[in-house]
Amino acid sequence: SDALKQGAMQIVQRLCESGFEAYLVGGCVRDEQLGRPVKDYDIATSAHPGQVQRLFERTVPTGLQHGTVTVVADKMPYEVTTFRREGGYEAFRRPTEVEYIDSLTEDLQRRDFTMNAMAIDQNGHLIDPFDGMKDLERGVLRCVGQAEARFGEDALRMMRCLRFASEYGLTVEQATWDALNSGISLLRHIAMERTRAELERMVGGSDPNRALELLAESRALRHVKQELLLSGLDKETEWPPLSRLTEMEHRIAFIYIRLGAVPADVEEDMIKLTFSRQQMETVKRIVAAHTALVSGLGESTERGGEPYLRKVWIAAVLKYGVSALRTLREIYLLEDAPIRTDNVKVGRAVDVWRRIGAVWLEQMPVSALAELAVGGKELMDRLGVQGGPWTGRLLHRLLESAALGELPNDKETLLAAAKEHYENMQEND
Ligand code: ATP
Ligand code: MG
Repeated sequence: SDALKQGAMQIVQRLCESGFEAYLVGGCVRDEQLGRPVKDYDIATSAHPGQVQRLFERTVPTGLQHGTVTVVADKMPYEVTTFRREGGYEAFRRPTEVEYIDSLTEDLQRRDFTMNAMAIDQNGHLIDPFDGMKDLERGVLRCVGQAEARFGEDALRMMRCLRFASEYGLTVEQATWDALNSGISLLRHIAMERTRAELERMVGGSDPNRALELLAESRALRHVKQELLLSGLDKETEWPPLSRLTEMEHRIAFIYIRLGAVPADVEEDMIKLTFSRQQMETVKRIVAAHTALVSGLGESTERGGEPYLRKVWIAAVLKYGVSALRTLREIYLLEDAPIRTDNVKVGRAVDVWRRIGAVWLEQMPVSALAELAVGGKELMDRLGVQGGPWTGRLLHRLLESAALGELPNDKETLLAAAKEHYENMQEND
């Protein structure tokens, strides 16, 4: 990060030597002041994009319509953006057209929050016309200017507000908070992708519980472009410490489980939210594993003793995979009663799974077809028949027996057992 900063300062100096103004601005200034790691350094300048392109050897026109040129120095990319004003805002979103200006202060003025509206000059001096540092020191997140107007110009700023407040542990200043609450319905104008990106960073961030609290208090998800099952999270008041789950997807899975969602609902919701297919599948798998584990427990005539619960657990491992079940156990471990249920059997079963589930997982000699000592081809050869739907069924039965430890995962034993099963199947036909 030191080299990264040096590269940025060199670009600033180069611009200044050429008679332009140039500064570090935005997130990098904020994070540096806070002693947080800086991901990328952004530069604001009075030079126009064409002038920037001429001044540096390697540039990429990454956002000319916003006045942004990416300068590549020492293989590191830096966004260099011309001072600008944002003209008219249309439909509560930021404009695509911009007007270049000469004044840094005016450029800082268009920025969303005081802590994001600070700059550092070529000598390393802080420029802070909106008292961003004072707010940071007090732990306050505040809009630059009139909060209501700023949220009206660009409704995404409300999601950013919730995200910054949770990620940086800030209190939203009263006028900003009031404006957010009165403007929250404008979120319907924001594309789901952008809303989701903020949501993802909130839930995946360092304080997911605070994020949920802010989402609940603002009821923000009730007002986004599409109706979401996830918006029901504002009815929940107590959440266990979600940061114990390291992955954002696992936290989302827990939230859905807590809301009582079934796999199909999760899929629909996450597609609306424009999560990636892979993210959706991960979450859905965990929720499906949970649904499979608990469904049927209530009605089952089994007493719910450990041998039975072990069978149910292992069957779920085979169907949904080891990692989904590992995660599910972490979810069950989040608190005393992680799963809301009136069903005593379900409550007790969850308690057993979180106590012994890991041991059962460890002890499984095989947990997937690929690990089984026989495959479909050997099976057909031994039985001297063509494959059919029964091959898969038979293999799965062998897998179950091996996974439960009823049969050793040994080729000859498994083939012998298969033969026996097969003959029984034919007799029953
Ligand atoms: P991070 O990169 O950690 O999300 P950041 O502050 O760098 O934080 P970016 O989205 O990268 O956020 O934006 C860079 C800067 O541009 C911000 O610091 C802020 O000054 C300004 N900015 C970004 N989005 C908006 C917006 N919607 N309205 C006003 N200013 C914005
Ligand atoms: Mg940034």
